[in-house]
Amino acid sequence: MKKAYIVRLSDILDQIQSYLPGADTRLVEKAYVFAARAHAGQVRRSGEPYLSHPMSVAYILAQMKLDLPTIAAGLLHDTVEDTNVTIEEIRHLFGDTVADIVDGVTKISHLPVKSKVHKQAENFRKMLLAMANDLRVILVKLADRLHNMRTLEYMPEHKRQRISRETLEIYAPLASRLGIDWLKRELEDLSFMYLYPEDYRRLREEVDKVVAARQDFIEEVKKIIVDKLKEEGIKGRVIGRRKHLFSIYRKLQRNNLSIDQLYLIYDIIGLRVIVQQIKECYQVLGIVHSLWKPIPGRFKDYINLPKPNMYQSLHTTVIGPGGRQMEIQIRTEDMDRVANEGIAAHWLYKEDKIIAASSAKNGQLEWLERLIELQKELQNPRDFIESLRMDLFPDEVYVFTPQGDIKVLPRGATPVDFAYAIHTEVGHHCARAKVNGRLVPLDYELQTGDIVEIVTTPHQKPSRDWLKFVKTSRARSRIKQWLKQEERQRILAAGREMLDREFRKVKLTLAAFLDHELSEEIAKSFSFKNVEELVAAVGYGKLTPQQVVKRFLVTREKEAGQEEEIITRKRRPHHRGPEALSVEGTEDVLFHLSKCCKPLPGDEVVGYITRGRGITVHRADCPNLETLDPERLIDVKWEPGDGATYTARIWVLTVDKKGMLASISGAISATEANILEADLKTTQDRRALFNFVLEVSNKAHLDRIMNNVKQIEGVIRVERKFA
Ligand code: MN
Repeated sequence: MKKAYIVRLSDILDQIQSYLPGADTRLVEKAYVFAARAHAGQVRRSGEPYLSHPMSVAYILAQMKLDLPTIAAGLLHDTVEDTNVTIEEIRHLFGDTVADIVDGVTKISHLPVKSKVHKQAENFRKMLLAMANDLRVILVKLADRLHNMRTLEYMPEHKRQRISRETLEIYAPLASRLGIDWLKRELEDLSFMYLYPEDYRRLREEVDKVVAARQDFIEEVKKIIVDKLKEEGIKGRVIGRRKHLFSIYRKLQRNNLSIDQLYLIYDIIGLRVIVQQIKECYQVLGIVHSLWKPIPGRFKDYINLPKPNMYQSLHTTVIGPGGRQMEIQIRTEDMDRVANEGIAAHWLYKEDKIIAASSAKNGQLEWLERLIELQKELQNPRDFIESLRMDLFPDEVYVFTPQGDIKVLPRGATPVDFAYAIHTEVGHHCARAKVNGRLVPLDYELQTGDIVEIVTTPHQKPSRDWLKFVKTSRARSRIKQWLKQEERQRILAAGREMLDREFRKVKLTLAAFLDHELSEEIAKSFSFKNVEELVAAVGYGKLTPQQVVKRFLVTREKEAGQEEEIITRKRRPHHRGPEALSVEGTEDVLFHLSKCCKPLPGDEVVGYITRGRGITVHRADCPNLETLDPERLIDVKWEPGDGATYTARIWVLTVDKKGMLASISGAISATEANILEADLKTTQDRRALFNFVLEVSNKAHLDRIMNNVKQIEGVIRVERKFA
């Protein structure tokens, strides 16, 4: 490790003068004095005075050519965190811009970064951007991290690992996002060195060998290009460019290669041609392609289509001298600066006068707007600006669980939203909330970086009031669902009570009704799906309890009457007639003859066990049998019985002539059957259709009747009908 150079104030001021000549640097000098006093007596692990750290950070920021408030903030960035200084003091002495940057950096350092970072790196980066408000906060944080990485050797091993991983996963991608390529590369290589020291050492050695071996080749190609540029009258320079170690390492891993297979990577070292104008870039591309054969699919035009972080360049890979592949990048000086320094390059180089003037003002919005203005010159800057804008003014807040998990919620979200984001039950029983250890009201507006703790109690229930302030649709729908269910329970309770009261007036209870076999039928008669819906309807007042009780009583009476009739008929002893029904091995089973097929004694029949209403008897050929549950079908047979009579329906087709009805009636009466109903239709083809409902003793009786009728002249057909 090289011995760290201790930065002096004059180094910082000189650096500032190099890009802001004549700038008034009193703000920076004042910050230096203040920081020196605040950190007096503090020592870093390296043994150096603590002040060396903020000095180095400020110097890095000056190397990034940032504005004066940012450099002042770099000097002050640890004063609030590590000394007795308050943010109010900073605000009072250095103004809002400096104070806001210092405050932002301090807040970031308070974030509870834990082992969870790995899983949520993307959210964490977004959160940093969201917290920052001002990108300068991120830039100071990056400079701070860079210096800490440069001096990481003084840290104990476990801290080195944690900090390096965090740098690799959070800060290097942020630097890349902002287009600050040199910073990204340095952060990655430092992290790589601490995380995988053995791989780092071996790879560095191997890369050095490869570079040494290719040096002559590169020089040869370089000379050819330089000569050609001169010939064409293009002013430009050609530099050898070495890929940084971590990107080589990543490339090896991506391609499942070991360090020994390094020779397979052709772009470890390449060339970069830097010219003045955009049109010269394409000229140079033409020259390169005329000298060496390009490899198809390897040409990329990032000038016409810049990368999201504003990077612009032409890339091509050609088969150079000796058949060896090499990558050549072509860009302008401006593009080269942007590629190295990212956004900082853009606003400083092009607008240094405005920057100097406005650095006294506050407001990151203005700063961003200027950046957007600059971007209009670029051909396709939309992606970058959009993504930057989203990150700077997100519609989201990022908050922590006490365990360090990050939850992303919409702006304006409350502890109740957070509770439902954890779990529905946590939401339902969310009684109190603590933010950063302090109790807050449930409608508190969560801020990015808050650590939120929900206190649940079993008796807590969702409240309708919560709907007034929750922001997430998840919380809203869960609360509504709960309230709806709760209301239904209330309605049901009300319905039950009203019904019970009404039933008691007729010496019944609701329980008796619910147990009664007719209850479902009653519900359906009011067009409800089931009894619960009926009860709910009473609760809602759609139906009075009187209506229900009345219909129940009426229906029950009617049913009882029917049953009685059947039983009476079966038992009537004086009525001569032969048969009755039985199921083997049972007595006193209640039978109903099905209305659909009207079976007669002597018919082949099948019984169907109904729910609570005895057995319904169908003719064996009744089409309705197919629709019934076969499990409930049962054998029944006719037995010599007590001489009941049964109804049967027949259908007689005749020619249409006078006296037919009289003839048929006569034939029926001759068999001692009663005609209960008769009707007649004439058809267009001069035929008549008679329907008779008859009272008969059994199937044999009916067969006799039908035979007699068939004998009548003019009768075409006689059929027994099902219903
Ligand atoms: Mn620091």
